[in-house]
Amino acid sequence: MSKSPYIESILRQAELRDGDKPEFLQAVTEVLSTITPAVDANPAFEQTGLLERFIEPERFVQFRVAWVDDEGRTRVNRGYRVQFNSAIGPYKGGLRFHPTVNESIIKFLGFEQVLKNALTGLPMGGGKGGSDFDPKGKSDAEVMRFCQAFMTELQRHIGPDTDVPAGDIGVGGREIGFLFGQYKRIRDEWSGVLTGKALSYGGSLARTEATGYGLCYYTEEVLNKLRDDSFEGKTVAISGSGNVAVFATEKAQQLGAKVVTASDSNGYVYDPNGINLDILKDIKVDHRGRIKEYADRVSSATYSDKRTDIWTVPADIALPCATQNELDGESAKKLVENGVKVVCEGANMPSTPEAIDVFRSNGVLYGPGKAANAGGVAVSGLEMSQNSYRLSWSFEETDNRLKDIMKGIFAQSHDAASRFSTPDDLMSGANIAGFEKVADAMLAQGVL
Ligand code: NDP
Repeated sequence: MSKSPYIESILRQAELRDGDKPEFLQAVTEVLSTITPAVDANPAFEQTGLLERFIEPERFVQFRVAWVDDEGRTRVNRGYRVQFNSAIGPYKGGLRFHPTVNESIIKFLGFEQVLKNALTGLPMGGGKGGSDFDPKGKSDAEVMRFCQAFMTELQRHIGPDTDVPAGDIGVGGREIGFLFGQYKRIRDEWSGVLTGKALSYGGSLARTEATGYGLCYYTEEVLNKLRDDSFEGKTVAISGSGNVAVFATEKAQQLGAKVVTASDSNGYVYDPNGINLDILKDIKVDHRGRIKEYADRVSSATYSDKRTDIWTVPADIALPCATQNELDGESAKKLVENGVKVVCEGANMPSTPEAIDVFRSNGVLYGPGKAANAGGVAVSGLEMSQNSYRLSWSFEETDNRLKDIMKGIFAQSHDAASRFSTPDDLMSGANIAGFEKVADAMLAQGVL
């Protein structure tokens, strides 16, 4: 898609200012390269410097997190929170604890979150945060001390009407519990300041399942509406074995598909008979084990430590659910050679720009993460509503709302893409639909 001179100049400026943040630049380039028709349609965007403001976070906080390990040694990590855009609601977005976390990762995730949250139709702005702390191999007591130290600083920047964090990689129910407890202790108030809470203290039914389930609802809608098809009888390759991957596997199986892969950062398993979900959950959810153990326990499965070879497994549908840039151009070519029809992203930005080009130029339906994985933050938004009303909805009610939201995200993306004559281009459609919503609110609120 050709870019307008205004967009070209913003991209040059982004390269100069953020050239040292590759993931952030990748996300900004992808979005700005696809919204030209929407930007050209409204001269007020350029007059008010809207794109300059759109790619600049409202606030970026970095802080020291000092904590004491089980041997009595003091450890120091970096904590981050980006409050990217609050035009349509309080900042909202997860916390990631992983050694690879840095300013670039946090800014790319925050930027994507702005558009994703807009697509849900709920009043949520975009934020993201985390730390280079690695929960793997730490005791529960160490994780608790780290979370308490992290929240001791973070609490001054967040609040139920200001900024509402949630989980992401490395931050699940255990970490949210420790973070919530520390917020409550310091602020002396019970409020819905975090989502992803356990049911016993204000969590929402279906939040744990939401991202993986939502990914499958979105993918099913893409198949229904654009190919008159469904998950039924399909072979599916899923990467990762964390929260998103496990519940995507569960829902894909419920919809009649056979999921044949799972992975972690060490390697992947291939089970031609279909992944046994009970065993997968036992290893990864109940015991925080490694995916290799699956092949030790299931005779039909094989294990490989060549993680990226997961994409050489023949599949009709691929759902990358691990991490950014896990699927490159070569892997995309392999998937296409093996007949993949649909790729929808459970992870954030898992496909490299080269991989996306391969999908788009070979007629593969490609559902970008900001649309396909928005189910998690959508149910987080529903958790905020339930906390405000001091009530809780049933699993079925929440799940039905999730389904409607995912169908709505597909419809908005498809409509936006169709308006600009590329109805199958769900990436441009999602970027344009999300951008238009945020840009309208920014214009209405003046130069901020
Ligand atoms: P988890 O921590 O539960 O699981 C992450 C999975 O990805 C694990 O299998 C992990 O393996 C693997 N992984 C992590 N980092 C790497 C890496 N550098 N290389 C290879 N594999 C890696 O996280 P989630 O399932 O919550 O998140 C997965 C993705 O989904 C992320 O991109 C996240 O941003 C995105 N997402 C999550 C949402 C949620 O609600 N949780 C919402 C929307 C998006 P290992 O155990 O070896 O680290």
